[in-house]
Formats: sequence, C-alpha cells, structure tokens
Amino acid sequence: MLETGGERLGTDALRVIVDHVRLMLAWNAAINLTAISDPAAVARLHVADSLAGLSTIREGQHATLLDLGSGAGFPGLTLAAVLPTTRVTLVDSVGKKTRFLAVVAESMGLAGRVAVLTARAEALGTGRWDVVTARAVGGLADLVELALPLLAPGGRLIAWKRGELGPELAAAGRAAHALGGSVPTWRPYPEALARAAQLEGHGLVVVRKERATPSGYPRDPGTRKRRPL
Ligand code: SAH
Repeated sequence: MLETGGERLGTDALRVIVDHVRLMLAWNAAINLTAISDPAAVARLHVADSLAGLSTIREGQHATLLDLGSGAGFPGLTLAAVLPTTRVTLVDSVGKKTRFLAVVAESMGLAGRVAVLTARAEALGTGRWDVVTARAVGGLADLVELALPLLAPGGRLIAWKRGELGPELAAAGRAAHALGGSVPTWRPYPEALARAAQLEGHGLVVVRKERATPSGYPRDPGTRKRRPL
C-alpha cells in the first residue's frame, strides 16, 4: 500500500502510477532511466518522494504545472496521475527520456493534458505556469534562474531538496531577489509520509514569483557559472 501522508489514491491514479513504474522498469535495461530497480525502492524513492510535494502544490494555484528535468517522469508524471485537472508539461533535454515519457503519457490516456517537450529549460523563453517542479536538477540558484521566467505572477517554484542547504539556499536567495522571487523557504515533507517512506530530512524549497522577471534571464549555463548572482 502506498503511503501518501494520509491520502487515499483513487484507482485511476494508482493505475497510472503502477503502469508508469512497470514501463520504466521494462525500458530501463535498454535506455537506463533509473539507478533504482527494486520495485519497493522505486515506490519509496520515486513514487512516495514525488507525492511528497502534493500538499504544497495544492496550497496555491495549480491549473498548470511544468516539471523541469523530468527524467523518467519524477515528480511530474506521478503528480499528473494524482492531479486530474492540472495540465502538466514534462521537459527534458534528453530525447530518449522524452520519448519514454511520451509513450507513457500516450498509453496511459494522459496525452490530452500531459505535454512532453524535448528542450533545454533555457530555450523555453518565458511562460505563465502556475507551478514549476524540479527534483535532482542542478543547484538551487540555477534552478531559480531557470524557473522564475517560466512562472506566472504569483506562481511557485517547488524544488525537491534535502536539508542542510545553508550556502545553497543563500545563493538561491540572491538569484530569487534578482529575478523577482520571494525569499526561498525550506519545509520538510509531511510527517506521516516522511516516516512511512523513511524520507526524514527530505524537503521542498518554495520560491514565489512576486515581480516580473527582468529581461535577459535565464543566462546561458556558462555565464551562470562565471557570474553567480
Ligand atoms: N527529475 C528526475 C530526473 C533527475 S536527473 C528525477 O528526479 O528522477 C536530471 C534531469 O534533468 C536529466 O534527465 C537531464 O537531462 C535534465 N536536465 C538538466 N538540465 C536541464 C535543462 N537545463 N533543461 C532541461 N532538462 C534538463
């Protein structure tokens, strides 16, 4: 039984989640989608971990959500399964991953509200998404620079991050200030979920877009590295 922190998953959501994991494990031998192949570990470290963002997402607008660097579909595709009225865009720069994601979305009957883009986030320009999610995609300051231009005013970046962020959170704060975002905050996963899935110490960083992002962002990866904000 999947522990989601007190929430019962509907049968449609569960079917999508289970079929996604099955397809991922079946494709994994050929295209190396994940280092985790034990189904119990996948349930804990991919599925439960993705669902840890659900209550935070539901606290604000979430008609549209973009998952940046979606990889094998976590957290974006799992969230799409449990948020039936949200339009979800999964973005990854690696074609073999987005081909997998497109096959899953199509075969699960989600293609009408789940779009898959093969692109670098830098190339998307600006957007009006309510939520940008990202897990295991680069440093937080980079993520802030990539995500804020994509958000609608009031929209939120929700980044999956373990604790002990110290300097990384401070650098993200400088980037958020420059791009029109709020001071980044870190919060632990909901307690019941963290306990059941043994994910204590894991959490989410939230940055809200408060002002329009000045033009010129995001800068290219080389410039971001040479001139941190
Ligand atoms: N979110 C997934 C995958 C993490 S690996 C998970 O947590 O399991 C990071 C992924 O981000 C890779 O698939 C990589 O191709 C993608 N990525 C990194 N930088 C990116 C960028 N600037 N634009 C789009 N995708 C990016």
